Amino acid sequence: MEFATFADRAGTIEAEPADLEIVAHVRDLLVDASDEGEERRSSDDAVEPQTLEIVARFVQGRVFPAWDSTTLDIGPSACYEAIARAAGTNVSADDVEDRLAEIGEIGDVAASYEFGGQQGLGAFAGGGSGSEGGGGDDLTVREVADTLEELAHAEGSGSQDRKVDLLFGLFNRCASEEARYLARLVLSEMRIGVGEGTVRDAIAEAFEVPEDRVERALQVSNDYGQVARIARDEGVDGLDGMDLAVGRPIQAMLAQAGTVTDALEEWAEAAVEWKYDGARIQLHHEPGDPGAADGSVAETRVFSRNMEDVTDALPEVVEFAEETLAEPAILDGEVVAVDGDGSPLPFQEVLKRFRRKHDVAKARENVTVRPVFFDCLHADGEDLLAEPLTTRHERLRSVLADSGAGSDTDDAVADEDVEGLSLLWHTDDPDEIESIDADALEAGHEGIMLKDPESAYSPGRRGKHWRKRKPDVETLDCVVTGAEWGEGRRATFLGTFELSVQADDRLETVGKVATGITDEKLAELTELLEPHIAAEEGQAVDLEPAVVFEVGYEEIQSSPTYSSGYALRFPRFQGVRSDKDPEDADTLERLERLRGE
Ligand code: AMP
Repeated sequence: MEFATFADRAGTIEAEPADLEIVAHVRDLLVDASDEGEERRSSDDAVEPQTLEIVARFVQGRVFPAWDSTTLDIGPSACYEAIARAAGTNVSADDVEDRLAEIGEIGDVAASYEFGGQQGLGAFAGGGSGSEGGGGDDLTVREVADTLEELAHAEGSGSQDRKVDLLFGLFNRCASEEARYLARLVLSEMRIGVGEGTVRDAIAEAFEVPEDRVERALQVSNDYGQVARIARDEGVDGLDGMDLAVGRPIQAMLAQAGTVTDALEEWAEAAVEWKYDGARIQLHHEPGDPGAADGSVAETRVFSRNMEDVTDALPEVVEFAEETLAEPAILDGEVVAVDGDGSPLPFQEVLKRFRRKHDVAKARENVTVRPVFFDCLHADGEDLLAEPLTTRHERLRSVLADSGAGSDTDDAVADEDVEGLSLLWHTDDPDEIESIDADALEAGHEGIMLKDPESAYSPGRRGKHWRKRKPDVETLDCVVTGAEWGEGRRATFLGTFELSVQADDRLETVGKVATGITDEKLAELTELLEPHIAAEEGQAVDLEPAVVFEVGYEEIQSSPTYSSGYALRFPRFQGVRSDKDPEDADTLERLERLRGE
Protein backbone atom coordinates (compact mmCIF):
# COMPACT_ATOMS: atom_id res chain seq x y z
CA MET A 1 0.00 0.00 0.00
CA GLU A 2 1.30 3.41 -0.89
CA PHE A 3 1.78 5.77 1.99
CA ALA A 4 -0.17 8.34 -0.02
CA THR A 5 -3.20 6.01 0.09
CA PHE A 6 -2.85 5.66 3.83
CA ALA A 7 -2.57 9.44 4.23
CA ASP A 8 -5.60 10.00 2.04
CA ARG A 9 -7.68 7.59 4.14
CA ALA A 10 -6.38 9.12 7.36
CA GLY A 11 -7.61 12.48 6.05
CA THR A 12 -11.07 11.07 5.34
CA ILE A 13 -11.23 9.52 8.80
CA GLU A 14 -10.13 12.72 10.45
CA ALA A 15 -12.87 14.67 8.70
CA GLU A 16 -15.56 12.16 9.70
CA PRO A 17 -17.56 13.05 12.81
CA ALA A 18 -19.66 9.87 13.18
CA ASP A 19 -18.10 6.99 15.14
CA LEU A 20 -19.78 4.26 13.13
CA GLU A 21 -18.57 5.79 9.89
CA ILE A 22 -15.06 5.97 11.28
CA VAL A 23 -15.20 2.24 12.05
CA ALA A 24 -16.37 1.61 8.48
CA HIS A 25 -13.48 3.64 7.05
CA VAL A 26 -10.93 1.84 9.20
CA ARG A 27 -12.49 -1.49 8.19
CA ASP A 28 -12.10 -0.61 4.50
CA LEU A 29 -8.54 0.48 5.10
CA LEU A 30 -7.72 -2.86 6.77
CA VAL A 31 -9.38 -4.81 3.97
CA ASP A 32 -7.40 -2.92 1.34
CA ALA A 33 -4.17 -3.39 3.28
CA SER A 34 -4.93 -7.13 3.43
CA ASP A 35 -4.49 -7.61 -0.26
CA GLU A 36 -0.77 -7.54 0.33
CA GLY A 37 -0.96 -10.71 2.33
CA GLU A 38 2.07 -12.74 1.36
CA GLU A 39 4.56 -13.48 4.07
CA ARG A 40 7.87 -11.73 3.73
CA ARG A 41 11.12 -12.66 5.27
CA SER A 42 14.06 -10.41 5.90
CA SER A 43 17.63 -11.41 5.16
CA ASP A 44 17.97 -13.02 8.60
CA ASP A 45 14.82 -15.03 7.90
CA ALA A 46 12.68 -13.28 10.51
CA VAL A 47 9.07 -12.87 9.48
CA GLU A 48 8.50 -9.22 8.68
CA PRO A 49 5.31 -7.46 9.69
CA GLN A 50 2.81 -7.44 6.90
CA THR A 51 1.27 -4.29 5.51
CA LEU A 52 -1.99 -5.11 7.32
CA GLU A 53 -0.17 -5.22 10.64
CA ILE A 54 1.57 -1.94 9.99
CA VAL A 55 -1.61 -0.19 8.93
CA ALA A 56 -3.51 -1.47 11.99
CA ARG A 57 -0.86 0.24 14.12
CA PHE A 58 -0.30 3.38 12.06
CA VAL A 59 -3.99 4.23 12.03
CA GLN A 60 -3.83 4.45 15.83
CA GLY A 61 -0.65 6.48 15.66
CA ARG A 62 1.52 3.58 16.77
CA VAL A 63 4.70 2.49 15.08
CA PHE A 64 5.30 -0.53 17.32
CA PRO A 65 2.95 -2.99 19.05
CA ALA A 66 1.54 -1.73 22.35
CA TRP A 67 3.57 -4.27 24.34
CA ASP A 68 6.82 -3.24 22.73
CA SER A 69 8.66 -0.56 24.66
CA THR A 70 10.79 0.37 21.65
CA THR A 71 10.51 4.09 20.96
CA LEU A 72 11.70 6.17 18.06
CA ASP A 73 13.60 8.26 20.56
CA ILE A 74 13.49 11.30 18.37
CA GLY A 75 12.51 14.66 19.79
CA PRO A 76 10.46 17.41 18.18
CA SER A 77 13.54 19.46 17.28
CA ALA A 78 15.09 16.58 15.33
CA CYS A 79 11.81 16.25 13.48
CA TYR A 80 11.77 20.00 12.69
CA GLU A 81 15.31 19.67 11.44
CA ALA A 82 14.34 16.82 9.09
CA ILE A 83 11.34 18.78 7.81
CA ALA A 84 13.47 21.87 7.27
CA ARG A 85 16.10 19.99 5.30
CA ALA A 86 13.49 18.36 3.08
CA ALA A 87 11.82 21.74 2.55
CA GLY A 88 14.90 23.27 0.93
CA THR A 89 18.12 25.06 1.64
CA ASN A 90 16.48 28.30 2.64
CA VAL A 91 14.35 26.73 5.40
CA SER A 92 15.79 26.21 8.88
CA ALA A 93 14.54 24.26 11.90
CA ASP A 94 13.82 27.63 13.52
CA ASP A 95 11.58 28.54 10.59
CA VAL A 96 9.66 25.31 11.11
CA GLU A 97 9.30 26.08 14.79
CA ASP A 98 8.12 29.63 14.04
CA ARG A 99 5.52 28.29 11.67
CA LEU A 100 4.44 25.81 14.32
CA ALA A 101 3.97 28.64 16.81
CA GLU A 102 1.84 30.38 14.21
CA ILE A 103 -0.24 27.42 12.93
CA GLY A 104 -0.26 25.37 16.12
CA GLU A 105 -0.12 21.81 14.78
CA ILE A 106 2.86 19.91 13.37
CA GLY A 107 0.80 18.07 10.72
CA ASP A 108 -0.39 21.36 9.23
CA VAL A 109 3.13 22.71 9.34
CA ALA A 110 4.60 19.69 7.54
CA ALA A 111 1.81 19.82 4.96
CA SER A 112 2.50 23.49 4.29
CA TYR A 113 5.92 22.87 2.75
CA GLU A 114 6.74 21.52 -0.63
CA PHE A 115 9.18 18.66 -0.43
CA GLY A 116 11.06 16.64 -2.94
CA GLY A 117 13.55 19.17 -4.23
CA GLN A 118 16.39 17.51 -2.41
CA GLN A 119 16.64 14.32 -4.46
CA GLY A 120 20.38 14.28 -4.63
CA LEU A 121 20.77 14.44 -0.87
CA GLY A 122 17.85 12.25 0.05
CA ALA A 123 18.35 9.40 -2.31
CA PHE A 124 20.48 7.40 0.08
CA ALA A 125 18.02 7.49 2.95
CA GLY A 126 14.44 6.48 3.41
CA GLY A 127 14.45 3.41 1.23
CA GLY A 128 14.87 0.97 4.09
CA SER A 129 16.04 -2.59 3.61
CA GLY A 130 12.65 -4.01 2.76
CA SER A 131 11.61 -1.64 0.00
CA GLU A 132 8.87 -3.12 -2.10
CA GLY A 133 10.94 -2.98 -5.18
CA GLY A 134 8.47 -1.53 -7.60
CA GLY A 135 10.92 0.81 -9.26
CA GLY A 136 8.72 3.91 -8.86
CA ASP A 137 9.45 6.51 -6.25
CA ASP A 138 6.11 6.29 -4.48
CA LEU A 139 6.66 5.85 -0.79
CA THR A 140 4.95 2.75 0.62
CA VAL A 141 3.59 2.06 4.11
CA ARG A 142 6.15 -0.69 4.44
CA GLU A 143 9.04 1.60 3.56
CA VAL A 144 7.91 4.06 6.20
CA ALA A 145 7.68 1.25 8.77
CA ASP A 146 11.08 -0.18 7.81
CA THR A 147 12.74 3.20 7.99
CA LEU A 148 11.18 4.05 11.34
CA GLU A 149 12.32 0.68 12.65
CA GLU A 150 15.86 1.40 11.50
CA LEU A 151 15.62 4.86 13.04
CA ALA A 152 14.45 3.46 16.38
CA HIS A 153 17.41 1.12 16.51
CA ALA A 154 20.07 3.67 15.59
CA GLU A 155 22.41 3.74 18.57
CA GLY A 156 25.70 5.15 19.71
CA SER A 157 27.58 8.23 18.67
CA GLY A 158 26.13 9.99 15.70
CA SER A 159 22.82 8.18 16.08
CA GLN A 160 20.82 11.40 16.40
CA ASP A 161 22.26 12.62 13.09
CA ARG A 162 21.47 9.27 11.53
CA LYS A 163 17.89 9.53 12.77
CA VAL A 164 17.51 12.99 11.27
CA ASP A 165 18.98 11.70 7.99
CA LEU A 166 16.53 8.83 7.85
CA LEU A 167 13.58 11.04 8.62
CA PHE A 168 14.71 13.64 6.13
CA GLY A 169 14.83 10.87 3.52
CA LEU A 170 11.20 10.05 4.23
CA PHE A 171 9.93 13.65 4.22
CA ASN A 172 11.83 14.26 1.04
CA ARG A 173 9.64 11.72 -0.71
CA CYS A 174 6.36 13.00 0.75
CA ALA A 175 3.62 14.99 -0.88
CA SER A 176 1.90 17.34 1.50
CA GLU A 177 -0.76 14.99 2.90
CA GLU A 178 1.82 12.26 3.42
CA ALA A 179 4.02 14.73 5.27
CA ARG A 180 1.10 15.71 7.49
CA TYR A 181 0.56 12.16 8.76
CA LEU A 182 4.21 11.21 8.81
CA ALA A 183 5.00 14.13 11.12
CA ARG A 184 2.12 13.24 13.39
CA LEU A 185 3.07 9.56 13.45
CA VAL A 186 6.67 10.32 14.33
CA LEU A 187 5.71 12.68 17.15
CA SER A 188 2.93 10.39 18.47
CA GLU A 189 0.31 12.99 17.68
CA MET A 190 -1.84 11.13 15.17
CA ARG A 191 -5.18 12.23 16.64
CA ILE A 192 -7.54 11.30 13.82
CA GLY A 193 -10.20 10.02 16.19
CA VAL A 194 -9.26 6.35 16.04
CA GLY A 195 -9.13 4.76 19.48
CA GLU A 196 -8.51 1.19 20.48
CA GLY A 197 -12.23 0.34 20.39
CA THR A 198 -12.45 1.63 16.82
CA VAL A 199 -9.73 -0.68 15.59
CA ARG A 200 -11.19 -3.59 17.53
CA ASP A 201 -14.59 -3.10 15.87
CA ALA A 202 -13.01 -2.55 12.46
CA ILE A 203 -11.04 -5.80 12.70
CA ALA A 204 -14.24 -7.65 13.65
CA GLU A 205 -16.10 -6.18 10.68
CA ALA A 206 -13.27 -6.55 8.19
CA PHE A 207 -12.66 -10.23 8.85
CA GLU A 208 -16.12 -11.24 10.05
CA VAL A 209 -15.17 -12.37 13.51
CA PRO A 210 -17.05 -11.57 16.77
CA GLU A 211 -15.97 -8.42 18.59
CA ASP A 212 -15.60 -10.13 21.98
CA ARG A 213 -13.13 -12.63 20.54
CA VAL A 214 -11.12 -9.81 19.00
CA GLU A 215 -11.21 -8.09 22.37
CA ARG A 216 -9.89 -11.15 24.18
CA ALA A 217 -7.14 -11.63 21.61
CA LEU A 218 -6.15 -7.98 22.01
CA GLN A 219 -6.04 -8.34 25.76
CA VAL A 220 -3.67 -11.29 25.70
CA SER A 221 -1.45 -10.12 22.85
CA ASN A 222 -1.57 -6.36 23.15
CA ASP A 223 -0.83 -6.18 19.47
CA TYR A 224 -3.46 -4.82 17.08
CA GLY A 225 -1.38 -5.73 14.04
CA GLN A 226 -0.99 -9.36 14.99
CA VAL A 227 -4.66 -9.69 15.91
CA ALA A 228 -5.71 -8.22 12.55
CA ARG A 229 -3.45 -10.65 10.69
CA ILE A 230 -4.62 -13.68 12.65
CA ALA A 231 -8.28 -12.67 12.28
CA ARG A 232 -7.74 -12.52 8.53
CA ASP A 233 -5.66 -15.69 8.17
CA GLU A 234 -7.10 -17.99 10.83
CA GLY A 235 -10.45 -16.52 11.83
CA VAL A 236 -12.02 -17.10 15.20
CA ASP A 237 -10.08 -20.28 15.94
CA GLY A 238 -6.84 -18.42 15.45
CA LEU A 239 -7.96 -15.63 17.77
CA ASP A 240 -9.06 -18.08 20.44
CA GLY A 241 -5.73 -19.82 20.21
CA MET A 242 -3.79 -16.66 21.07
CA ASP A 243 -2.21 -16.77 24.52
CA LEU A 244 -0.28 -14.63 26.91
CA ALA A 245 3.44 -14.81 26.36
CA VAL A 246 5.99 -14.56 29.14
CA GLY A 247 8.03 -11.45 28.32
CA ARG A 248 5.23 -9.61 26.53
CA PRO A 249 3.42 -7.27 28.95
CA ILE A 250 -0.32 -6.78 29.00
CA GLN A 251 -2.36 -3.87 30.28
CA ALA A 252 -2.95 -3.77 34.01
CA MET A 253 -6.42 -4.16 35.50
CA LEU A 254 -7.40 -0.94 37.22
CA ALA A 255 -9.54 -0.03 40.20
CA GLN A 256 -12.21 2.56 40.74
CA ALA A 257 -13.12 4.32 43.94
CA GLY A 258 -15.90 2.73 45.97
CA THR A 259 -17.28 2.18 49.43
CA VAL A 260 -17.36 -0.88 51.62
CA THR A 261 -21.12 -0.59 51.74
CA ASP A 262 -21.49 -0.79 47.95
CA ALA A 263 -19.04 -3.66 47.69
CA LEU A 264 -20.89 -5.73 50.26
CA GLU A 265 -24.21 -4.96 48.67
CA GLU A 266 -23.09 -6.16 45.25
CA TRP A 267 -21.03 -9.19 46.15
CA ALA A 268 -21.86 -11.99 48.56
CA GLU A 269 -18.54 -11.30 50.20
CA ALA A 270 -15.55 -9.16 49.47
CA ALA A 271 -11.93 -10.06 48.99
CA VAL A 272 -10.04 -7.46 51.01
CA GLU A 273 -6.38 -6.62 50.56
CA TRP A 274 -4.08 -3.96 51.85
CA LYS A 275 -3.47 -1.19 49.37
CA TYR A 276 0.28 -0.92 49.11
CA ASP A 277 1.64 2.54 48.48
CA GLY A 278 4.15 1.98 45.74
CA ALA A 279 4.33 1.61 41.98
CA ARG A 280 2.59 -1.04 39.91
CA ILE A 281 4.74 -3.76 38.38
CA GLN A 282 4.13 -6.73 36.13
CA LEU A 283 6.74 -9.43 36.52
CA HIS A 284 7.51 -11.87 33.72
CA HIS A 285 9.74 -14.74 34.63
CA GLU A 286 11.04 -17.74 32.77
CA PRO A 287 13.23 -19.92 34.98
CA GLY A 288 16.49 -21.14 33.54
CA ASP A 289 17.54 -24.74 33.33
CA PRO A 290 21.21 -25.00 34.20
CA GLY A 291 21.10 -28.72 33.35
CA ALA A 292 19.92 -28.10 29.81
CA ALA A 293 22.35 -28.62 26.96
CA ASP A 294 22.21 -24.93 26.07
CA GLY A 295 22.63 -24.03 29.78
CA SER A 296 19.63 -21.73 29.54
CA VAL A 297 19.50 -19.04 32.19
CA ALA A 298 16.54 -17.42 33.89
CA GLU A 299 14.99 -14.50 32.09
CA THR A 300 13.14 -11.88 34.11
CA ARG A 301 11.50 -8.67 32.90
CA VAL A 302 9.69 -6.11 34.99
CA PHE A 303 7.21 -3.69 33.42
CA SER A 304 5.53 -0.57 34.73
CA ARG A 305 1.80 0.08 34.69
CA ASN A 306 2.30 1.60 31.23
CA MET A 307 4.20 -1.47 30.06
CA GLU A 308 7.53 0.30 30.06
CA ASP A 309 10.46 -2.01 30.74
CA VAL A 310 11.82 -1.03 34.17
CA THR A 311 13.83 -4.21 34.82
CA ASP A 312 17.22 -2.54 35.09
CA ALA A 313 16.00 -0.08 37.72
CA LEU A 314 14.73 -2.80 40.07
CA PRO A 315 17.41 -5.46 40.59
CA GLU A 316 15.79 -6.55 43.88
CA VAL A 317 12.72 -7.70 41.95
CA VAL A 318 14.86 -9.68 39.53
CA GLU A 319 16.75 -11.28 42.41
CA PHE A 320 13.47 -12.06 44.13
CA ALA A 321 12.15 -13.79 41.00
CA GLU A 322 15.32 -15.79 40.50
CA GLU A 323 15.35 -16.96 44.10
CA THR A 324 11.65 -17.62 44.44
CA LEU A 325 10.05 -18.69 41.18
CA ALA A 326 10.48 -22.20 39.89
CA GLU A 327 7.96 -22.04 37.05
CA PRO A 328 7.27 -19.61 34.20
CA ALA A 329 4.93 -16.95 35.52
CA ILE A 330 3.39 -13.53 34.95
CA LEU A 331 2.59 -11.80 38.24
CA ASP A 332 0.89 -8.50 38.97
CA GLY A 333 1.87 -6.47 42.00
CA GLU A 334 3.33 -3.38 43.54
CA VAL A 335 6.89 -2.46 44.34
CA VAL A 336 7.24 -0.62 47.64
CA ALA A 337 10.15 1.19 49.21
CA VAL A 338 11.09 -0.15 52.63
CA ASP A 339 13.30 0.96 55.49
CA GLY A 340 15.90 -1.17 57.24
CA ASP A 341 13.19 -3.03 59.21
CA GLY A 342 11.16 -3.78 56.11
CA SER A 343 8.48 -1.19 57.00
CA PRO A 344 6.98 0.65 54.04
CA LEU A 345 8.19 4.13 53.15
CA PRO A 346 6.08 6.74 51.35
CA PHE A 347 5.44 6.51 47.63
CA GLN A 348 7.89 9.35 46.88
CA GLU A 349 10.72 7.04 47.92
CA VAL A 350 9.78 4.46 45.28
CA LEU A 351 9.94 7.17 42.66
CA LYS A 352 13.61 7.67 43.48
CA ARG A 353 14.16 4.12 42.22
CA PHE A 354 11.55 3.52 39.57
CA ARG A 355 12.72 4.14 35.97
CA ARG A 356 16.18 5.06 37.21
CA LYS A 357 18.73 4.44 34.48
CA HIS A 358 22.01 5.44 36.09
CA ASP A 359 23.68 4.67 39.40
CA VAL A 360 21.11 2.05 40.30
CA ALA A 361 23.48 0.29 42.69
CA LYS A 362 24.11 3.54 44.55
CA ALA A 363 20.42 4.44 44.69
CA ARG A 364 19.77 0.99 46.08
CA GLU A 365 22.01 1.73 49.04
CA ASN A 366 19.73 4.60 50.00
CA VAL A 367 16.31 3.15 49.23
CA THR A 368 15.56 -0.56 49.02
CA VAL A 369 12.49 -1.84 47.23
CA ARG A 370 10.45 -4.96 47.80
CA PRO A 371 7.79 -6.49 45.56
CA VAL A 372 4.36 -7.56 46.82
CA PHE A 373 2.24 -9.55 44.36
CA PHE A 374 -1.54 -9.65 44.40
CA ASP A 375 -2.36 -11.47 41.18
CA CYS A 376 -1.18 -14.28 38.95
CA LEU A 377 -2.01 -14.01 35.26
CA HIS A 378 -0.07 -16.97 33.98
CA ALA A 379 1.69 -19.91 35.59
CA ASP A 380 3.50 -22.83 34.09
CA GLY A 381 2.03 -22.54 30.62
CA GLU A 382 -1.51 -21.84 31.82
CA ASP A 383 -3.33 -18.53 31.27
CA LEU A 384 -5.43 -17.55 34.26
CA LEU A 385 -7.14 -14.33 33.14
CA ALA A 386 -10.56 -15.96 32.94
CA GLU A 387 -10.25 -17.67 36.34
CA PRO A 388 -11.90 -16.10 39.40
CA LEU A 389 -9.75 -13.90 41.61
CA THR A 390 -9.82 -16.45 44.42
CA THR A 391 -8.36 -19.15 42.16
CA ARG A 392 -5.74 -16.78 40.79
CA HIS A 393 -4.70 -15.78 44.30
CA GLU A 394 -4.39 -19.43 45.35
CA ARG A 395 -2.23 -20.06 42.30
CA LEU A 396 -0.16 -17.01 43.20
CA ARG A 397 0.38 -18.42 46.64
CA SER A 398 1.57 -21.74 45.29
CA VAL A 399 3.85 -20.06 42.75
CA LEU A 400 5.46 -17.99 45.51
CA ALA A 401 5.52 -20.66 48.19
CA ASP A 402 6.99 -23.37 46.01
CA SER A 403 10.61 -22.44 45.85
CA GLY A 404 11.24 -25.37 43.57
CA ALA A 405 13.05 -27.35 46.23
CA GLY A 406 10.38 -30.01 46.01
CA SER A 407 8.53 -28.52 48.97
CA ASP A 408 5.23 -30.28 49.37
CA THR A 409 4.63 -28.69 52.75
CA ASP A 410 3.51 -25.36 51.26
CA ASP A 411 0.20 -25.41 53.03
CA ALA A 412 1.89 -25.55 56.39
CA VAL A 413 3.36 -22.10 55.72
CA ALA A 414 1.17 -19.22 56.86
CA ASP A 415 0.32 -16.66 54.16
CA GLU A 416 2.18 -14.03 56.18
CA ASP A 417 5.33 -16.05 55.78
CA VAL A 418 5.10 -16.46 52.03
CA GLU A 419 7.46 -13.79 50.87
CA GLY A 420 6.04 -11.40 48.28
CA LEU A 421 2.42 -12.53 48.72
CA SER A 422 -0.30 -9.94 49.36
CA LEU A 423 -2.55 -10.89 52.25
CA LEU A 424 -6.14 -11.47 51.24
CA TRP A 425 -9.21 -11.88 53.45
CA HIS A 426 -12.66 -13.06 52.39
CA THR A 427 -15.40 -11.51 54.47
CA ASP A 428 -18.94 -10.14 54.44
CA ASP A 429 -18.50 -8.45 57.82
CA PRO A 430 -18.06 -4.66 57.71
CA ASP A 431 -16.48 -4.66 61.16
CA GLU A 432 -13.82 -7.09 60.01
CA ILE A 433 -13.15 -4.89 56.99
CA GLU A 434 -12.86 -1.94 59.33
CA SER A 435 -10.24 -3.69 61.38
CA ILE A 436 -8.31 -4.80 58.26
CA ASP A 437 -8.34 -1.15 57.18
CA ALA A 438 -7.06 -0.11 60.60
CA ASP A 439 -4.28 -2.70 60.47
CA ALA A 440 -3.30 -1.60 56.97
CA LEU A 441 -2.96 2.02 58.09
CA GLU A 442 -1.16 0.97 61.22
CA ALA A 443 1.34 -1.03 59.16
CA GLY A 444 2.00 2.12 57.11
CA HIS A 445 -0.02 1.23 53.99
CA GLU A 446 -2.48 3.35 52.09
CA GLY A 447 -5.73 1.66 53.10
CA ILE A 448 -7.56 -1.24 51.51
CA MET A 449 -8.66 -2.60 48.17
CA LEU A 450 -11.97 -4.40 47.84
CA LYS A 451 -12.23 -6.99 45.11
CA ASP A 452 -14.98 -9.20 43.76
CA PRO A 453 -13.73 -12.72 44.57
CA GLU A 454 -15.51 -14.15 41.52
CA SER A 455 -14.16 -11.67 39.00
CA ALA A 456 -11.90 -12.43 36.05
CA TYR A 457 -8.83 -10.29 35.31
CA SER A 458 -9.81 -7.59 32.80
CA PRO A 459 -6.68 -5.97 31.36
CA GLY A 460 -6.87 -2.22 30.94
CA ARG A 461 -10.28 -1.96 32.57
CA ARG A 462 -11.15 0.41 35.36
CA GLY A 463 -14.15 -1.62 36.46
CA LYS A 464 -16.26 -2.17 39.52
CA HIS A 465 -14.62 -5.48 40.32
CA TRP A 466 -11.69 -3.76 41.97
CA ARG A 467 -12.42 -0.87 44.27
CA LYS A 468 -10.09 1.29 46.22
CA ARG A 469 -11.83 2.47 49.34
CA LYS A 470 -13.08 5.91 48.57
CA PRO A 471 -11.26 8.75 50.25
CA ASP A 472 -13.44 10.64 52.69
CA VAL A 473 -15.29 13.48 51.07
CA GLU A 474 -16.82 15.23 54.04
CA THR A 475 -15.19 15.66 57.41
CA LEU A 476 -16.75 16.34 60.79
CA ASP A 477 -15.39 18.37 63.68
CA CYS A 478 -16.00 16.32 66.81
CA VAL A 479 -15.29 16.96 70.47
CA VAL A 480 -12.98 14.38 72.08
CA THR A 481 -14.81 13.13 75.19
CA GLY A 482 -12.87 10.01 76.06
CA ALA A 483 -9.85 7.89 75.22
CA GLU A 484 -8.05 4.70 76.19
CA TRP A 485 -4.50 4.16 77.33
CA GLY A 486 -2.65 2.04 74.80
CA GLU A 487 -0.87 -1.24 75.32
CA GLY A 488 2.70 -2.43 75.05
CA ARG A 489 4.78 0.03 73.08
CA ARG A 490 1.90 2.51 73.32
CA ALA A 491 1.19 2.13 77.04
CA THR A 492 2.09 5.75 77.72
CA PHE A 493 -0.07 7.11 74.90
CA LEU A 494 -3.73 7.87 74.82
CA GLY A 495 -5.49 6.36 71.80
CA THR A 496 -8.89 5.15 70.57
CA PHE A 497 -10.49 8.57 71.02
CA GLU A 498 -14.19 8.87 71.69
CA LEU A 499 -15.89 11.43 69.48
CA SER A 500 -18.98 13.47 70.21
CA VAL A 501 -21.17 16.07 68.56
CA GLN A 502 -23.30 18.80 70.10
CA ALA A 503 -26.98 18.16 70.72
CA ASP A 504 -28.77 21.08 72.38
CA ASP A 505 -26.79 21.59 75.57
CA ARG A 506 -25.34 18.08 75.69
CA LEU A 507 -22.65 16.16 73.87
CA GLU A 508 -23.60 12.84 72.30
CA THR A 509 -21.13 10.18 71.19
CA VAL A 510 -20.83 9.16 67.50
CA GLY A 511 -17.85 6.84 67.37
CA LYS A 512 -14.24 6.19 68.15
CA VAL A 513 -11.23 6.97 66.04
CA ALA A 514 -8.07 4.95 66.31
CA THR A 515 -6.74 4.94 62.76
CA GLY A 516 -4.60 7.20 60.69
CA ILE A 517 -2.44 8.33 63.63
CA THR A 518 1.30 7.84 63.85
CA ASP A 519 3.13 7.23 67.15
CA GLU A 520 4.61 10.67 66.92
CA LYS A 521 1.17 12.19 66.60
CA LEU A 522 -0.14 10.04 69.47
CA ALA A 523 2.55 11.44 71.73
CA GLU A 524 1.49 14.97 70.78
CA LEU A 525 -2.20 14.22 71.29
CA THR A 526 -1.50 12.64 74.69
CA GLU A 527 0.29 15.77 75.79
CA LEU A 528 -2.63 17.86 74.59
CA LEU A 529 -5.37 15.75 76.20
CA GLU A 530 -3.82 14.49 79.45
CA PRO A 531 -4.52 17.75 81.36
CA HIS A 532 -8.22 17.29 80.57
CA ILE A 533 -8.63 13.83 82.10
CA ALA A 534 -11.72 13.96 84.31
CA ALA A 535 -11.89 10.32 85.44
CA GLU A 536 -10.06 7.04 84.83
CA GLU A 537 -11.20 3.46 85.05
CA GLY A 538 -8.79 0.78 83.96
CA GLN A 539 -7.49 1.86 80.59
CA ALA A 540 -10.51 4.06 79.85
CA VAL A 541 -10.43 7.77 80.57
CA ASP A 542 -13.17 10.40 80.49
CA LEU A 543 -12.09 13.74 79.10
CA GLU A 544 -13.65 17.07 79.78
CA PRO A 545 -14.61 18.67 76.47
CA ALA A 546 -11.69 20.81 75.35
CA VAL A 547 -10.20 19.47 72.13
CA VAL A 548 -11.81 19.22 68.69
CA PHE A 549 -10.70 16.63 66.10
CA GLU A 550 -11.43 16.80 62.42
CA VAL A 551 -12.37 13.29 61.29
CA GLY A 552 -13.12 11.74 57.92
CA TYR A 553 -15.55 8.88 57.56
CA GLU A 554 -17.15 6.72 54.91
CA GLU A 555 -20.76 7.01 56.00
CA ILE A 556 -23.01 7.75 58.93
CA GLN A 557 -25.04 4.76 60.07
CA SER A 558 -27.83 4.64 62.58
CA SER A 559 -26.56 2.60 65.51
CA PRO A 560 -27.53 1.82 69.08
CA THR A 561 -23.84 1.68 70.09
CA TYR A 562 -23.48 5.43 70.61
CA SER A 563 -25.70 7.87 72.49
CA SER A 564 -26.38 10.02 69.42
CA GLY A 565 -28.06 7.01 67.79
CA TYR A 566 -25.54 7.18 64.95
CA ALA A 567 -22.10 5.76 64.26
CA LEU A 568 -19.39 7.00 61.92
CA ARG A 569 -18.33 4.20 59.61
CA PHE A 570 -14.53 4.05 59.09
CA PRO A 571 -13.66 7.20 61.03
CA ARG A 572 -10.17 8.53 60.40
CA PHE A 573 -8.24 11.18 62.24
CA GLN A 574 -7.46 14.16 60.00
CA GLY A 575 -6.09 16.66 62.49
CA VAL A 576 -6.71 18.81 65.57
CA ARG A 577 -8.92 21.87 65.03
CA SER A 578 -6.95 24.03 67.42
CA ASP A 579 -8.88 27.00 66.06
CA LYS A 580 -12.15 25.56 67.39
CA ASP A 581 -13.65 25.28 70.86
CA PRO A 582 -16.11 22.48 71.76
CA GLU A 583 -19.03 24.84 71.18
CA ASP A 584 -17.86 25.31 67.57
CA ALA A 585 -17.91 21.55 66.92
CA ASP A 586 -20.46 19.95 64.59
CA THR A 587 -23.99 19.27 65.75
CA LEU A 588 -26.31 16.30 65.69
CA GLU A 589 -28.43 18.30 63.30
CA ARG A 590 -25.61 18.51 60.78
CA LEU A 591 -25.03 14.78 61.13
CA GLU A 592 -28.66 14.17 60.28
CA ARG A 593 -28.48 16.54 57.35
CA LEU A 594 -25.40 14.74 56.01
CA ARG A 595 -27.34 11.50 56.23
CA GLY A 596 -30.02 13.13 54.13
CA GLU A 597 -32.62 12.92 56.88
P1 AMP B 1 -4.89 4.27 42.21
O1 AMP B 1 -3.48 4.36 41.71
O2 AMP B 1 -5.18 5.19 43.34
O3 AMP B 1 -5.90 4.27 41.08
O4 AMP B 1 -5.07 2.83 42.88
C1 AMP B 1 -4.88 1.66 42.15
C2 AMP B 1 -3.45 1.19 42.31
O5 AMP B 1 -3.23 0.72 43.63
C3 AMP B 1 -3.12 0.00 41.46
O6 AMP B 1 -2.82 0.36 40.14
C4 AMP B 1 -1.90 -0.56 42.17
O7 AMP B 1 -0.74 0.09 41.68
C5 AMP B 1 -2.10 -0.13 43.61
N1 AMP B 1 -2.33 -1.24 44.56
C6 AMP B 1 -1.78 -1.32 45.78
N2 AMP B 1 -2.17 -2.43 46.42
C7 AMP B 1 -3.00 -3.10 45.59
C8 AMP B 1 -3.73 -4.33 45.70
N3 AMP B 1 -3.71 -5.08 46.79
N4 AMP B 1 -4.47 -4.69 44.62
C9 AMP B 1 -4.53 -3.93 43.51
N5 AMP B 1 -3.86 -2.75 43.35
C10 AMP B 1 -3.10 -2.34 44.40
